[in-house]
Amino acid sequence: MEVHNVDMVMSAVSPSQYPTDGKPEFALVGRSNVGKSSLTNTLINRKNFARTSAQPGKTQTLNFYDVEDQLYFVDVPGYGYAKVSKKQREEFGQMIETYITSRKRLRGVISLVDARHAPSQEDVMMYEWLNYYHIPILVVATKLDKIARGKSNQAESIIKKKLGYDPSNSDFLFFSSQTKYGKDAVWDWIEAHI
Ligand code: GDP
Repeated sequence: MEVHNVDMVMSAVSPSQYPTDGKPEFALVGRSNVGKSSLTNTLINRKNFARTSAQPGKTQTLNFYDVEDQLYFVDVPGYGYAKVSKKQREEFGQMIETYITSRKRLRGVISLVDARHAPSQEDVMMYEWLNYYHIPILVVATKLDKIARGKSNQAESIIKKKLGYDPSNSDFLFFSSQTKYGKDAVWDWIEAHI
C-alpha cells in the first residue's frame, strides 16, 4: 500500500473507546525498544509519526492509527519494562487481553522480536497466547542490518525454536528500518489478511 495519509485517531483503554467505523485492524506488539515505532514509521513513510519508546510508568493505552482511511494500526504499548509495577503489568495485560479476545475486526497481529536475540519469555508468552486464540501472526524479526551476512538462517531457527513457531497460523519475516528490507513483504502480508 502506498501510504499518504495517516491520522492518530484515538487512544483507548477500554472497548467503549475503540473506533466504531468497522475498518480492519492490525495490532503491533513487542518489547519496548524492539523497533516497533521504526517499523510503523517505515510502513507509513514517515520519519517521526509513531513515538519512539514511550516512557515507562506513563499511562499505557492502545493507540489507533487510521491508515489511508482503509485500516487501523493498533499500537500496543511495549512490554518488558523492568520498572513497571505488578499492578501496572496486570492492568496492561487485561487491556490487551480484552482487546485481542473481543475484537472481531482484528485481522492479525504483527509480533516483533529482535533478530539478534532469542525471544524473551514475554515474547514467547505473547506468541503462545495469540496462537491459542487463532489470531494470524506475522513474526517480524527486526534490526536485520545488525546481523552478519550469512547468519540470518541461524537467527531464524533460534527464534522459531524458542517461540514454538506454528507455521499453520504464522508467517515470519526479517525487517530493517535502516535498509527498509522487508517493508513490501510486511505490506503484502497485511493486504493478504485484510
Ligand atoms: P520501540 O520502543 O519498539 O518503538 O523501538 P524504536 O523504534 O524506538 O527503536 C529502538 C531503537 O532501535 C532506536 O534507537 C532505533 O533507532 C533502533 N532501531 C530500530 N529499528 C532498527 C533497525 O532496523 N536497525 C537498526 N540498526 N536500529 C534500529
